[in-house]
Amino acid sequence: MIYLKTDEEIELMYLANQLVGRTLGELAKHIAPGISTLQLDKIAEEFIRDHGAVPAFLGYGGFPNSLCTSVNEEVVHGIPSAKRILKEGDIISIDCGTILNGFVGDSAYTFCIGEVAEDVKALLKTTKESLYLGIEKALEGKRLGDVSNAIQSHCEAKGYSVVRELVGHGIGRNMHEAPEVPNYGRRGFGSLLRNGMCICIEPMINMGKRNVVFENDGWTVRTKDRMCSAHFEHCIAIRPEGPRILSSFDFIEEVLGNNAI
Ligand code: MG
Ligand code: MG
Repeated sequence: MIYLKTDEEIELMYLANQLVGRTLGELAKHIAPGISTLQLDKIAEEFIRDHGAVPAFLGYGGFPNSLCTSVNEEVVHGIPSAKRILKEGDIISIDCGTILNGFVGDSAYTFCIGEVAEDVKALLKTTKESLYLGIEKALEGKRLGDVSNAIQSHCEAKGYSVVRELVGHGIGRNMHEAPEVPNYGRRGFGSLLRNGMCICIEPMINMGKRNVVFENDGWTVRTKDRMCSAHFEHCIAIRPEGPRILSSFDFIEEVLGNNAI
């Protein structure tokens, strides 16, 4: 069942999601060659708790940390580790969640570590563009397939492929609510978009083939061909005046300045 949020609940969703944005902005200050993904996790956990919230991912389904940190060929759900040191030329998807006042925020951004190859930067740019193209289609009275198709069409037109095994989701008091929000689909199909729906749209786009492998750590998903994968996620609310983005990349992009994708 799809749970529609009241105006008051959407304001609380906004607060939880803005804190995710601020956490990602804090991380942006520290992301550089030489830092480990576990150090980033600790910075995020402390920042979230200092702001009166709880990391949503920590303990979720047994997940051991506060962030999902997925480097290069890792698509999503990478586990932070002291042994995973970021180096020049890497990319990292950082997915972060908070629980504040009983509501969940969830957003992700893929960062470049120093100078990254032009073709990898192009993958990131297209993936981020596809997220906003999807959001543009998230209009009351339209269908979820309109959102999914906008993402798929844009990425496939550039020669990239769309991961099928993982999808976006409804969100609210729980991180994962109905409906599923695939990054592929047919225009005019899928759930009707209604005022008060809150969904996370999160394209996971591969430079090579779409196939993925689930690693035996029980979490990490990587591309089968080990080519790079990008991931950007916003949490939005369907409103009569149009989609409202509840999360934010502004805090990140303030830090990155001209280096933002
Ligand atoms: Mg997420
Ligand atoms: Mg999500």
